[in-house]
Amino acid sequence: MNPDIAIPVREPAQTGRDDTILPFEVNALDLRGRIVRLGPAVDTILTCHDYPLPVAKLLGEAIVLTVMLGSALKFEGRFILQTQSDGPVRMLVVDFVSPSKVRACARFDAERVAAAIAANAAAPGKLLGHGHLAMTIDQGLDMSRYQGLVPLEGGDLEQAAHEYFSRSEQIPTRVRLAVAEEFRAGENGAHRRWRAGGILLQFLPKSFERARQADLDPGDAPPGVEPHALPEDDAWVEGRSLVATVGDVELIDPELSSERLAYNLFHEHGVRVFRTATVEAQCSCSRQNVEAMLRSFSQDDRDDMVEDGKITVTCEFCSSTYEFAPEDVFVPEDVAAMAALSQRADS
Ligand SMILES: [Zn+2]
Repeated sequence: MNPDIAIPVREPAQTGRDDTILPFEVNALDLRGRIVRLGPAVDTILTCHDYPLPVAKLLGEAIVLTVMLGSALKFEGRFILQTQSDGPVRMLVVDFVSPSKVRACARFDAERVAAAIAANAAAPGKLLGHGHLAMTIDQGLDMSRYQGLVPLEGGDLEQAAHEYFSRSEQIPTRVRLAVAEEFRAGENGAHRRWRAGGILLQFLPKSFERARQADLDPGDAPPGVEPHALPEDDAWVEGRSLVATVGDVELIDPELSSERLAYNLFHEHGVRVFRTATVEAQCSCSRQNVEAMLRSFSQDDRDDMVEDGKITVTCEFCSSTYEFAPEDVFVPEDVAAMAALSQRADS
């Protein structure tokens, strides 16, 4: 061993930790990646919503993908993943606030979802249908917002992620996502818990040439022209082939630590792990924010919201309920007029 390099070498951890993100790299192959393992965080969100099973599973996959990408932010900010599509699941929203908070919800057509389940056509791509997936990075007030868009064309979220990294970032990338319910016998009968996991692998060679990928078929080539055949780099072919062997069970198995999974995949080349990050299910809604939102509405809109003498707002993410007396959020007319004027001046 080279005495100049003071990187400690040890066995992979035997016990896994839930709700963690483990970054790793395989220098010999120019690969970098992250392994996400979710227990209570994903269970809290999915149990609270109690969506039909395939919708819960799909939202779970979106949560894993969001945690995987959002936890890579190097600054304080928000990473928002949102789908909008014409399938039975119209919208998924996952909101990650750095360094560690995640919340999520879905909007769907219950009848169409039930019909899809009955017809055995509730695979993720079928539930989403056609539309787009947007990934937004928001660094807060007065800071730039960055948005990446990728079309959804009947495929699942793994495919959408590959498409995004290939077209927008031009980084060869593979993503695997897995979500399942675990059944456990407990004192009060069987207990169900959601678990989820995923792995992201990216090829980041020092020379850009090596990261070039063949055009996605049919590419930009005019009809009749053979697509550009570019041989893929051997290191990347090996990396993506190894990730393709990872099964769903390995991604969610509480008995298999993330370090052990990384080791099993890449030990031949040497794999280096970095500090583990943690994630928790936590909503960012508050009475103050809801009040501010109500005050931004017109008096007519607020009047329409009054039921039994009060305005009730339920958070779509965490189901928290906030109640206001109409006079609590009353905005005097001249103040409202000034607010409208300043809005006009802004736009
Ligand atoms: Zn909330």
